[in-house]
Amino acid sequence: MVGQGLLTGMGITIRRFFGKKITVQYPEEKIPMTERFRGGALDVNLEKCISCGLCALACPNKAIQLASEMGEDKKKRLTAYRHLGGQCLYCNMCLEACPTKALSWDRNYERSCYCRAGLEFDCLARGQERLKAKLSAPVEEMVAATGGGTANG
Ligand code: SF4
Ligand code: SF4
Repeated sequence: MVGQGLLTGMGITIRRFFGKKITVQYPEEKIPMTERFRGGALDVNLEKCISCGLCALACPNKAIQLASEMGEDKKKRLTAYRHLGGQCLYCNMCLEACPTKALSWDRNYERSCYCRAGLEFDCLARGQERLKAKLSAPVEEMVAATGGGTANG
């Protein structure tokens, strides 16, 4: 039928015009990334990491720099863990190689910068901060539940 394409197009335009608005007001509004999104920096869960180094070995582009030492309890622990985002291919091989599922992506897509050095990320420092916050949370909750004060006021 002559003009059918035009009518179909107009129908879509009218539906969109009166329908729910889908434009996101970025950067005030942000779209949450899906679970499978590969992007941002690597997050290391220090409670799960056994410092085996398999993630760095699996990386085809040497985008993970890690160092570890043996503790007094004969367990290895990380002393450094850097993710070089400027070299990363986002291939996910590091996550797949990790035997304890200690790695994940932080899914932060706002990491543009003017040089590669700005894409280097200290994963150990962030992991330690997160662990510290997690360990101190129950104490803070107990303090709040008991009125928020200390013995000295
Ligand atoms: S995603 Fe690929 S390139 Fe990036 S750190 Fe992991 S293994 Fe290396
Ligand atoms: S592969 Fe996993 S457990 Fe091993 S060092 Fe990397 S993050 Fe830690």
